Amino acid sequence: MASETWTVRRLLEWTEDFLRKKGFESPRLEAQILLAHALGCQKIDLYVRFSEEPAEDKRSTFREIIKKRSEGTPVAHLVGYREFYSLAFAVSPDVLIPRPETETLVMEALRLLKPLAAPRVLDIGTGSGCIAVTIAKQHKSAQVTAIDISPKALAIARTNAEQHAVTERVTFLEGDLFAPLSLQSFDLIASNPPYIAHAEFPTLDPGVRDFEPRSALDGGPDGLGFYRRLATEAERFLRPGGTTLVEIGSTQEDAVRDIFAARMEVGATIRDLGGRPRVISARARS
Ligand code: GLN
Repeated sequence: MASETWTVRRLLEWTEDFLRKKGFESPRLEAQILLAHALGCQKIDLYVRFSEEPAEDKRSTFREIIKKRSEGTPVAHLVGYREFYSLAFAVSPDVLIPRPETETLVMEALRLLKPLAAPRVLDIGTGSGCIAVTIAKQHKSAQVTAIDISPKALAIARTNAEQHAVTERVTFLEGDLFAPLSLQSFDLIASNPPYIAHAEFPTLDPGVRDFEPRSALDGGPDGLGFYRRLATEAERFLRPGGTTLVEIGSTQEDAVRDIFAARMEVGATIRDLGGRPRVISARARS
């Protein structure tokens, strides 16, 4: 990038082209997000700055960022956040980066919670806190408890609760699944547990496999370990009529339905925006 005039427009064009040739799926969007980050502005501001020539120090920061991206570092790690349900969530290598598929679970949760006043919600394996915080943000009287075994993940989740001003209605607890709870009961238990089977790891997108926490992905030998534990333990913490909602991998519908059906009443599978099976709901048998 030496002798040419490197305007914002030219930097965007060059980067888009570069990332496309490297095989990235959204080269234009990524170029915009990363350049805006390097320049310390919003994506939308790039358009009014098209003919501006960023100073050399900004361009050199940008070059470093693009180099890391081309080596596979996720965009969310480079900029430190990811948008989820139109909210910005802080992320780090200690948490799973929020996925659009998980918005399907949140939408269903909000649909179920809508008629309830001050519902009690439990999020198992909260990670970045995207499920817990979004529910608290969208349902103004929801009381949310969010559990994670990783103290580093909980620190990120707390930051996100502060950022979105819901700390008074979200309680964070450290521990393995339901372990930190005693007698509490909930209207809704939500979880996006680790669900990747061991045999799937070699086929995972390297951006996921090499940069995201194994502990947030590894669902045991067959990927179903956490569903078995959730199905066994959830009932004890559900209020009468309460629901458990779990995100699943798109090939796990039948297996997860069977696991929950052994103890609970399983509802219709909910599909994500790509039409893939994504969320299973289960209620206590009355
Ligand atoms: N959806 C994630 C992926 O495919 C996995 C998330 C999880 O294990 N909960 O990369």
